[in-house]
Amino acid sequence: TAHHHRLEVSNLAVSYRDIQALQGINFRTECSRSMALIGPNGAGKSTLLKSLAGLVRPDAGKILWRGKALVSSSHEIAYLPQRGDVDWNFPITVRGLVEMGRYPNLGLWKRYSKHDEEIVERALTAMNLLDLQKRQISALSGGQQQRTFIARALAQEAHVLLLDEPFTGLDKPAQEALSQLFRELTKEGRLLIASHHDLQTVPSIFDDVLLLKRQQVAFGPVKEVFTEETIKTAYAS
Ligand code: ATP
Repeated sequence: TAHHHRLEVSNLAVSYRDIQALQGINFRTECSRSMALIGPNGAGKSTLLKSLAGLVRPDAGKILWRGKALVSSSHEIAYLPQRGDVDWNFPITVRGLVEMGRYPNLGLWKRYSKHDEEIVERALTAMNLLDLQKRQISALSGGQQQRTFIARALAQEAHVLLLDEPFTGLDKPAQEALSQLFRELTKEGRLLIASHHDLQTVPSIFDDVLLLKRQQVAFGPVKEVFTEETIKTAYAS
């Protein structure tokens, strides 16, 4: 259908009590694309990702995934929190975290099956984590931690990956590896939406960009809308 694997956001507005965090957000994207959320601190990037993940309830507007209202429990959408929001000392192994990706699909009434195990195995393999699967997540490097969360999203069989500043805190080689991984994931048909702080690397990593500063400044292909003018507008104080 025309709605197949498309994400549509119209007139989205979100507030926290008396703080209007976002308003007038409108965009449409689809699987096999990657999108950067760009804007200064407090622009609402995390809030937008949380709304898409169903973690924050919008005041107004619509979020449609494949033509239907997005349900917070939708297992097709995976959310990868900002590094600072994760308790990295939580006692869980790499494999344990990736296995958690199966639970949205299982619910509490179904047993973890051979099939689930195969999916977890595949996700660990794809993210090159088989050798690390017994490690605690606290013992990983930043790049490995990011890969573990992406593996969890793969185990979830998510079509949409929402990532909050995935490149922050990674060294150059890890960043290069992650952007290569982004290219592979979109090629396989996934939709990636990530908040991003490094303006210089936007064109080499992402297809589309949404510039925002509480309101939407611009949305479209990086080549067309990521201009000096729109960047200035988003970052003007
Ligand atoms: P950063 O780049 O610093 O991560 P951001 O673009 O992700 O910022 P948000 O974290 O979405 O921005 O915040 C948008 C606005 O909403 C800010 O003014 C912030 O202070 C406010 N805000 C965010 N979360 C809450 C909350 N739980 N309660 C109240 N206000 C909040």
